Amino acid sequence: MNLSKKIFLSLGFGLLLGSLFNYLNLFGGEVFLNFIEIPGSLFISSLKMLIVPVVFFSIVCGVSNLTNIATLGRIGSISVLFYLITTCIAITLALIFSSLIDPGVKKDVTDVGTFIKKEAPELKNVIINIIPSNIFKAFTEANMLQVIFFAVLFGITLNLIKEKSSKIKEATLTLNDIFLKMIEVIMYFAPYGVFFLIFKTFFTQGFTAIFELGEYFFTVLLVLFLHLVFTYGGILLLTRKINILKFFYKMKNSILFAFSTASSAATIPINLKTVEESLGVQKSVASFTVPLGATINMDGTAIMQGVATVFIANTYGVDLSIVDYLSVILVATLASIGTAGVPGVGLIMLTMVLSQVGLPAEGIALIIGIDRILDMTRTAVNVTGDATVSCVVALAEKKLDIKKINS
Ligand code: ASP
Repeated sequence: MNLSKKIFLSLGFGLLLGSLFNYLNLFGGEVFLNFIEIPGSLFISSLKMLIVPVVFFSIVCGVSNLTNIATLGRIGSISVLFYLITTCIAITLALIFSSLIDPGVKKDVTDVGTFIKKEAPELKNVIINIIPSNIFKAFTEANMLQVIFFAVLFGITLNLIKEKSSKIKEATLTLNDIFLKMIEVIMYFAPYGVFFLIFKTFFTQGFTAIFELGEYFFTVLLVLFLHLVFTYGGILLLTRKINILKFFYKMKNSILFAFSTASSAATIPINLKTVEESLGVQKSVASFTVPLGATINMDGTAIMQGVATVFIANTYGVDLSIVDYLSVILVATLASIGTAGVPGVGLIMLTMVLSQVGLPAEGIALIIGIDRILDMTRTAVNVTGDATVSCVVALAEKKLDIKKINS
């Protein structure tokens, strides 16, 4: 059986068994919970371990092969533009559909439960912090924008010293190959890691909470699905060169990993491998667009935020005006840049969106119970968005192997 099938099966088993254990209230104790947490956490750590080296060496290899620095500037600006546009479309779709479906009814808001507010990062600081004041700190903290910045600079400088850099270039290529191989080794254990991650989620959450918040839950799912099929599918269709079905099929590993880990950052190594090796995007584009997307492009998260804003407004009996909707679009698009690709951060950033339209952050307590399952789904959409933009930018730059993606 091939690896994707194994991962898919273990995901299904994890979901079934986890829900069954939850339903029958089996092994509810702390000891069992701790025990099932170990394999999943080991798996996530092994993926996280690879993020910084894979991103650093891929970017250095990619950029040092670009003979023209202007190309790099173009790739950077087109990708950022595309990331912002797709997020804008995502949040707009979310607002349109949630206004039509109108999830949530006015409740007695004194019993919303508790939500402990955490500070969302200030957007200004996200931009200022792109340049690291200490590269070692950037590496140990896995600060993606800073690692990307330093890797690009390193690659460009490697090019500037030309023949003197040949040994370093060779070494970087070899190190890059080593880390890519390491991903394959870790993927071998993926079915077990995925099983335990999914089992734990459904074992601790169960399905009952989903049905209590059914309208909200299914509205988010519907818009995620529409964005995946119509926005990404539409963009790829417009290129008239990429077969959409092949694209989605080849994304299966990245989607499964994103779903199981609920982390775009932890999925970077796998997505980088998929985008380069299966979708045929050249390293000079993929090495840059994939980690950048995992850091600043969160379409799925923006969709959740749009639906959640309407849902919370309805629950509190607040009418949102057109100006409110427009400011939600603006703030959620910008918030997407500051959202780290790890589980649950989308909810913290939602406080920013809610406060923009005068809604209380405590409203988040209404939806927190089912957020993990939605987080898994929106992360899958987030990484698909990164791959879509990578393919489009690569096509525009003539750095896409059309035969490979359509094979
Ligand atoms: N888990 C999401 C991601 O990693 C972020 C979020 O929506 O919380 O892409």
